[in-house]
Amino acid sequence: MAAVERQQWDVVVVGAGGAGLRAAIEARERGARTAVICKSLFGKAHTVMAEGGIAAAMANANENDSWQVHFRDTMRGGKFLNQWRMAELHAREAPERVWELETWGALFDRTRDGRISQRNFGGHEYPRLAHVGDRTGLELIRTLQQKVVALQQEDHRETGDYESRLKVFQECTVTRVLKDGERVSGVFGYERETGRFLVLQAPAVVLATGGIGKSFKVTSNSWEYTGDGHALALLAGAPLVNMEFVQFHPTGMVWPPSVKGILVTESVRGDGGVLRNSEGKRFMFDYVPDVFKDKYAESEEEADRWYEDPDHNRRPPELLPRDEVARAINAEVKAGRGSPHGGVFLDVSTRMPAEVVRRRLPSMYHQFKELADVDITAEPMEVGPTCHYVMGGVAVDSDTAAARGVPGLYAAGEVAGGMHGSNRLGGNSLSDLLVFGRRAGRHAAEYAQGLADRRPPVDEAQVDTAAAEALRPFAAGAGGSAVEAGGSAGADGFAGTGGSAGAGGEAGAPENPYTLHQELQQTMNDLVGIIRREDEMEQALRRLAELRVRARRAGVEGHRQFNPGWHLALDLRNMLLVSECVARAALERTESRGGHTREDHPGMDRSWRNVNLLCSLADPAGTLAAADPARAQIRLARERTEPIRPDLLALFEKEELVKYLAEEELYE
Ligand code: FAD
Repeated sequence: MAAVERQQWDVVVVGAGGAGLRAAIEARERGARTAVICKSLFGKAHTVMAEGGIAAAMANANENDSWQVHFRDTMRGGKFLNQWRMAELHAREAPERVWELETWGALFDRTRDGRISQRNFGGHEYPRLAHVGDRTGLELIRTLQQKVVALQQEDHRETGDYESRLKVFQECTVTRVLKDGERVSGVFGYERETGRFLVLQAPAVVLATGGIGKSFKVTSNSWEYTGDGHALALLAGAPLVNMEFVQFHPTGMVWPPSVKGILVTESVRGDGGVLRNSEGKRFMFDYVPDVFKDKYAESEEEADRWYEDPDHNRRPPELLPRDEVARAINAEVKAGRGSPHGGVFLDVSTRMPAEVVRRRLPSMYHQFKELADVDITAEPMEVGPTCHYVMGGVAVDSDTAAARGVPGLYAAGEVAGGMHGSNRLGGNSLSDLLVFGRRAGRHAAEYAQGLADRRPPVDEAQVDTAAAEALRPFAAGAGGSAVEAGGSAGADGFAGTGGSAGAGGEAGAPENPYTLHQELQQTMNDLVGIIRREDEMEQALRRLAELRVRARRAGVEGHRQFNPGWHLALDLRNMLLVSECVARAALERTESRGGHTREDHPGMDRSWRNVNLLCSLADPAGTLAAADPARAQIRLARERTEPIRPDLLALFEKEELVKYLAEEELYE
């Protein structure tokens, strides 16, 4: 058996982005000994990339704003499929979470009279995004990190050990959630640098691993977004909800090819940037859907007046929710009115002075100058849709963030589903991380403390299986026999190929994990991308099955010390599982809604409004090794959403509800 380092904690948080750190701080403040594990270096999480801001109805820039208006916007953006209680909690609690960050040392941009400045963003009725230039995520993570360090210093003063109550394991990847019967008992993972295995025993585990974008070829997401938390939940027996909803951000870079997909923040449009096609036309006026017609300007003059006088004019259509703008850009390019490199033009150069562009959008200015040799103060950017965010995720209880069906498992942030319905509004993720990160940390701590000395033990057989699974790529790389692969490595396997875990390789030539990853990305991009069709998704599912068979032979050479090929081979399991969820759910939902557009079912269908699609593992034992990879790994089920509470429904006009709600819901 391979050597495994072991430690005991009350709460383990998997992920050190905004959601993970906020959860860890809360759990530790409530007295739980808390460990945080992250794949990358501490402080390098994806959250750092967030640019535009944190949505919170603080009413600093427009006093008419309130949690009720924010709730309404969020539900509209999500096309009423949101888990409404989450949307309510989020809208109510976000302002407090932003204030809290300031008390911990964050410094947001200010209004002239010294309040936290708030900017416009798509789908938000009022300026609502608290921001720090276009580097808000960096400030958020810096502040949370600082808070973690402050707590560690406090612990040092009391116990003489900085890490006695809050410890960060950086560059460690969790590959399995361990269980005792139904309950969580800890996690299994490996250190990326040494390859050493690690078991953290804990009765409560919070998944805060972010998104899944690395399964798509063109994406704004970082290398970490391989859907690990989604897969960990599935494998532990917790369902995922509404995985068909993947957000394609309308504005990613399209040129040069090496940077295709990198995000161009929505703040560019929020601050006045406009979209034009190759004929110079501001085409978004042609794409305002009926449900939004009364809220968006009909002429350029009215749209431009709105920036100065939002109370007496309607918003520019460039600020429609992201799904609408992405589809419009797609349609313009398809109609032959695209830019030279297959996007459209996004222009700020004719809209504001160069010095204002550089001050308000410093990262965008540098991004285009350095990566594309484009000066955005003098010429337009070329932009097109890029895979950006997954609305689907772990099905959780709205109040506690507890994952359904697995006591001790929690999920917060992008890995959790429900909050954003079928489409997330910009800025609503950072606030989601803080609101539900805190809630997950609190409830995980309370759950762990409630167990006292009745903590679930770690099942050694599961640890052995997890180790064998992790070593499998070495066996495959050596031609299919685990004994051959591990024989020379000794029981621990650090010096040699990988260890004699008896994983058992698959017969056949080894497959290169990088090739498999590229083929997976191409498949998802081409066949389950922004516009979907039944035949293409069926084709995608067939290709995914082939890739699963080949992924069993994903082989690597060398040893476990920092071996990126090995890491990718292990990530493939997660990406394939999550991709199958997206494709199956997308095939099932025969309507277009938010981040799910069916060319063969173009309209939103009210009878789907109250239907959630749940994905779970077809093999409930969660071993995968025993399952035939050529067969479906994912089972799909429909469930009815909980009826929206009447006092929340009363926040909308009846005429608006008629556009979304099914007949019987309206009657009720
Ligand atoms: P992350 O910040 O991604 O953290 C995930 C953590 O999990 C990381 O620490 C990672 O190392 C760890 N992890 C993953 N898998 C494992 C594993 N197997 N084992 C151990 N650790 C693991 N949203 C907004 O609201 N406003 C914005 O302005 C905004 N701008 C954006 C700009 C860009 C370019 C992008 C890509 C996104 C933007 N978003 C924005 C979205 C937002 O940034 C993300 O949704 C959010 O940061 C996700 O946070 P998280 O805490 O859920 O995950």
